[in-house]
Amino acid sequence: GKTFPRPRETRILTVANQKGGVGKTTTTVNLAAALATGGLQVLVIDNDPQGNASTALGIDHHAGTPSTYDVLIDDVPFSEVVQPCPDVEGLFCAPATIDLSGAEIELVSMVARENRLRNAITALLASQTDEERYDYVFIDCPPSLGLLTVNAFVAAREVLIPIQSEYYALEGLSQLLRNIELIRGHLNPTLHVSTILLTMFDKRTNLSRQVADEVHTHFPEQTLEVSIPRSVRISEAPSYGQTVLTYDPGSTGALAYRAAAQEIASRAETASTTPSAQPSGA
Ligand code: ADP
Ligand code: MG
Repeated sequence: GKTFPRPRETRILTVANQKGGVGKTTTTVNLAAALATGGLQVLVIDNDPQGNASTALGIDHHAGTPSTYDVLIDDVPFSEVVQPCPDVEGLFCAPATIDLSGAEIELVSMVARENRLRNAITALLASQTDEERYDYVFIDCPPSLGLLTVNAFVAAREVLIPIQSEYYALEGLSQLLRNIELIRGHLNPTLHVSTILLTMFDKRTNLSRQVADEVHTHFPEQTLEVSIPRSVRISEAPSYGQTVLTYDPGSTGALAYRAAAQEIASRAETASTTPSAQPSGA
């Protein structure tokens, strides 16, 4: 397969949109699988009590499985929670179990409640050798802006927003962007929306095209050129515990996610080789 460039530092992306059903989980697992099949080391942190990302990656997540909950609430290190994905070499997942549904409440009274995920990821990355280092970490978020999502915003540098190509797509987006600004001002000055991806795109409808045009006009820098088509193969894959990259590697959906992964990977390259770019660690 095609080999993607290794970023100089681990890139941590939070996949967020407080709307449900817009393609957060689908985007998380398929981009992660695309990057891993392209030769990179990728970790998916399932940060949604529904555990859909864990299911889609074929990862055991019955109640009691060591999970993101244990990391957030009981200081269990990620190294005791992360499982390798059975189908894709280089792809790993920290699963979510139903326990995580209680974490939103339990976090409220905890010390440094917004920083718990960041601290755990920092410890994980510090424990890795350069060879085993994750190139990408994706955090799949629940459809809300509660403390689980706040933890993900504090832990990441980049936000990836999937936008469904439908009429109400942009509704709620300003609230999401305001929240990101608040996090940036108070908790994580490096946070920014690096990537917007149009999902469930139907090129035959005017509406899909209008939404895409509007998103490209509003967010020319962030919006990927490729959009993800609506595809039955994409929606079928999770019921086999697979991503579309292994379920049907030649399908339009697999091709689109591979192209999106390519764009994301090459943008980072550009950024890090541009002379005017900030020095690393800034
Ligand atoms: P979210 O995580 O934002 O709630 P999901 O990724 O779970 O959204 O997607 C919602 C539903 O839409 C799922 O049933 C998923 O299989 C389906 N879906 C997502 N992307 C596509 C696509 N490109 N084509 C067809 N179905 C899709
Ligand atoms: Mg989801």
